[in-house]
Amino acid sequence: MIGAALLAYALSVPASQRFDFTERHMGVEVRVRLYAPDEATARSAARAAFDRVRAWDEALSDWHEDSDAMRLPHHAGDATIVDGRLAQALDASVLAREATGGAFEPSLGALTRVWRQARRERRAPDAATLQAARDASGAGSFQWNPATRRFTAMRDGVRLDFGAIAQGIAADDALRALREGGCAQALVDVSGDIAVGAPPPDADGWRIQIEAEFDDQPTDMLLVHDCGVSTSGDRAQRTMVDGSAASHILDPGTGIPLVAPRQATVVAADATTADVMATALCVLPAETCRSIAAAHHLAARLDRTPAEGGVQPLEGWHVIRRASSCPADAPWAPAAAHPSPASKASDPPCSR
Ligand code: AMP
Ligand code: MG
Repeated sequence: MIGAALLAYALSVPASQRFDFTERHMGVEVRVRLYAPDEATARSAARAAFDRVRAWDEALSDWHEDSDAMRLPHHAGDATIVDGRLAQALDASVLAREATGGAFEPSLGALTRVWRQARRERRAPDAATLQAARDASGAGSFQWNPATRRFTAMRDGVRLDFGAIAQGIAADDALRALREGGCAQALVDVSGDIAVGAPPPDADGWRIQIEAEFDDQPTDMLLVHDCGVSTSGDRAQRTMVDGSAASHILDPGTGIPLVAPRQATVVAADATTADVMATALCVLPAETCRSIAAAHHLAARLDRTPAEGGVQPLEGWHVIRRASSCPADAPWAPAAAHPSPASKASDPPCSR
């Protein structure tokens, strides 16, 4: 009797099919893969997910002058009350700054502007411009009171840059929208900042392929579910400024871009944490990365030059890593971390 009831139930549950969606938001390709019983469910869940990403972009972008973040006060002493997504991002950013000992710093906007222009022109900023941007940046350039939601600019010209956290936040929220829409078996990839939900049908997790920073180093295959995976580095956008390499990641201690090629991949409880930590682990010495990974239960891989210790798996990396042989199902190949707006996600290297 029970067997017959179970059989009837099994026959009434429609098999899940795989659906893929891609839209451009935040200046990059956002990709959603999900399993759903039918196309209507898949489409409406994906629509809600992309709408969340767009809303985060409108709140946090430092490319649009009219985003909520760009309309924050820029003059020392001016204050405003903040709510909604921007307040959530400020909460998360201040915690992230604390957790990374300042290697993640949300108030680098004045400096990132100057260096973006330098990277475009391939010429370093003059000393006065750089100093002015330094003076407007860093811890102490703004105050955020999480209880009263009051933001105060403390230095003239202060600008927030959520570039190292916004995509992780958006990926987490998009995954939440997919779950709410009935698609818990899902993955959201915002250009290398990935939120993964429940495993695909008949699988232990999502296979995610991590390319090495250097061509002669091994690719890794992760098998993960219900977490965030993020990769930071310059593999897709290495730029020279005055003959010296200049990363899009800055050392908040100096206000100068990283010079040595570095990449960090982090697996954390969510994509927001993975995003900030991947950026911070690029900035920090390997020893500090090791203690932060242990303290925050991160699995991580550092890719550094041989002089800086080469490829270094940290904490639980070995547990989630799988051999990189071609599996039966195509693995997820994340879009290169933060590619230039023109570049495209690479196809999965293994076909079904
Ligand atoms: P990600 O690609 O996630 O590592 O983020 C890099 C982006 O975050 C850069 O393009 C800058 O806009 C911004 N950024 C650069 N350096 C830092 C830093 N040390 N802390 C916080 N944000 C940063
Ligand atoms: Mg990041």
